[in-house]
Amino acid sequence: MLGLYVHVPFCSAICNYCNFNRGLFDADLKVRYVDALVAEIERAGEAAADTIFFGGGTPSLLEPDEVARIIEACESAFGVAADREVTLEANPETVTEARLAAFRRAGINRVSFGVQSFREEELRRLSRLHTAGRARDALAEARAAGFDNVSLDLMMWLPEQKVTDWLESVDEAIALGPDHLSLYLLEVYPNAPLKEDMARARWSQAPDEDAATMYVTAMERLEAAGYDQYEISNVARPGRRSRHNLKYWTDGDWLGFGCGAHSTREGVRWKNISSTEDYIDQIARDASPAVDVRRLTPDERLGDALFTGLRLVDGIDTNAIQTRYGVDVWRRFGADLEPFLDGGCLRREGARLRLTRQGMLVANEVMTVFV
Ligand code: SF4
Repeated sequence: MLGLYVHVPFCSAICNYCNFNRGLFDADLKVRYVDALVAEIERAGEAAADTIFFGGGTPSLLEPDEVARIIEACESAFGVAADREVTLEANPETVTEARLAAFRRAGINRVSFGVQSFREEELRRLSRLHTAGRARDALAEARAAGFDNVSLDLMMWLPEQKVTDWLESVDEAIALGPDHLSLYLLEVYPNAPLKEDMARARWSQAPDEDAATMYVTAMERLEAAGYDQYEISNVARPGRRSRHNLKYWTDGDWLGFGCGAHSTREGVRWKNISSTEDYIDQIARDASPAVDVRRLTPDERLGDALFTGLRLVDGIDTNAIQTRYGVDVWRRFGADLEPFLDGGCLRREGARLRLTRQGMLVANEVMTVFV
């Protein structure tokens, strides 16, 4: 079944490290954008879908009735399965218990909060709008509103962050008991304002070995607390893996709606135009917002399946790859994989090939074998 991704490109302020497709919230633009989204979804349908994911940007800046309209458009255009997963990414400062309850009535059944840190000075350095207290309250409000599937995002390797600082946030997250957590390594992009902020304030990131310790220790603590790591950056309680995101890692198909959204379906990949205004114009003219439409070559499809599959803790089933792509992974890539197998970064278990935790630290290097 398809996954449906809905992009919401609005934020109340722009974080200094952000590299996503987003802009400042504008109430009039948002109204026109939601109309365009509904129109794009209504024209796209016909297949069956089982996940809807509102990502951004800050999707929780939409009103619950706007979210309801978009979900209804998905329902009327696609056969959306009864046991669907419908996720809303939310920033802690944008919610109240009443608002979360209204999102739930609108059809959202999973909330993913962009918490990033439970330490005030770290949130300030990232120019986030919420406090640690607001993040704690948001999680409690989600529970009170009836959500039984809540995820938190945390970021490690922040400016000036020590290993112990990071573990404080991890422990606090564990104490709050979300169902799912995503842990990301901060990437400081060359043109991000954060880079200048860091130079001006003389903030630095801990050495690479500390970043590795942050990652490994966090995963160990989360496992000890009952979370299963299922992907390089993601852990979940049993039954709470992100079904939507799993489509990206298991060679699935998904359609993206809204400006800058990506789609992959039956070996064809495309991206919508990035600018919000241009996207609305295209939809208003009944023209396709898609740009960069490309049929992937068999080798690209194979490379993608291996590259993304290796992100999963269970790794790749080379028999399934052989059946789907007619390629013997060992024969094609065996010689290049050998050093990583010998070095303890990869493990071969029967037909499975998977990264070890040590291998996850150098995943990008291992994956260059496939692309
Ligand atoms: S809230 Fe998220 S999408 Fe918006 S500016 Fe901050 S990091 Fe970027």
